[in-house]
Amino acid sequence: MRLFSEFYFANRENLDGALLDVDGTLSANGAPLPGAAELLVQFEKDRFPYLLLTNDTCHSHEEKRRILANGGIHVPMSRIFSAGDVLRYWAGKNYHGELFFQCGVLGNPGYGEAAGIQLTTDVKRIPECKGVLMGEGIYAWQENLEGIFNLFMAHPEYPFVVCNPDSYWPSVSGTGMGVGAGGQARFICGLLKEMGISVEPVYLGKPYAPVYQQAFQVFAEQYPERPAVRAERVIMLGDSLASDIRGGNVNGLLSCLVLTGITSRKLAEDAEEIRRPKEIFDRI
Ligand SMILES: [Mg+2]
Repeated sequence: MRLFSEFYFANRENLDGALLDVDGTLSANGAPLPGAAELLVQFEKDRFPYLLLTNDTCHSHEEKRRILANGGIHVPMSRIFSAGDVLRYWAGKNYHGELFFQCGVLGNPGYGEAAGIQLTTDVKRIPECKGVLMGEGIYAWQENLEGIFNLFMAHPEYPFVVCNPDSYWPSVSGTGMGVGAGGQARFICGLLKEMGISVEPVYLGKPYAPVYQQAFQVFAEQYPERPAVRAERVIMLGDSLASDIRGGNVNGLLSCLVLTGITSRKLAEDAEEIRRPKEIFDRI
């Protein structure tokens, strides 16, 4: 059995940090996976830079910290980094104070407010909006998606921001799979394309570059005593080929797969190069 923790002990001098996926990597079904809690304690003890990197933008840091603690994973709130956090870097000065339509939920307190964007979830106000933030959670799909569709028909130049690019995820309303924020955004863009209108969403979370760039900036803020991280010496540890491993590979990180989540060894070994992990571990 190959353990990630042993790999860490053998190589920590040559590593600059680690970005860790949560579901299927640190915990599963509300319980910590073997070795996960101990690894985080070791990282803290070593002052080894790490962040829990999640595409979950439905929950604020406080909510996420509570969910993780209930599942036996105890981390300081500052070690949680969500795709929603990237909004504040993206919005910067360009969109500060602008009115955006928020589709669904983006944490409570929200990532949009933290980014200084003015938000409405009132579909009647969509025509006044200067862009759209795709959120998560349960909301009235028809009126929201149609409102967004109409806004981009009139203004294809407006930003369509998708923090969580996931196509699907476990359904929030019951059993089975649900359609993710990325899936919903691409559905709307597909309809627009049929009308000859090109709208390309701004993706912020894994596997896209912005979340990695900003995570490196957070490393610099949280570990000022360490030299700037070099991407190739930063581990991206996760269980998903499409998000964690692809994201790690495309952005030049050391992609590491754990087999405790959604991916089998065969699937990983047979994957096309961009989705093939550099290292495979049975568990943490
Ligand atoms: Mg996962």
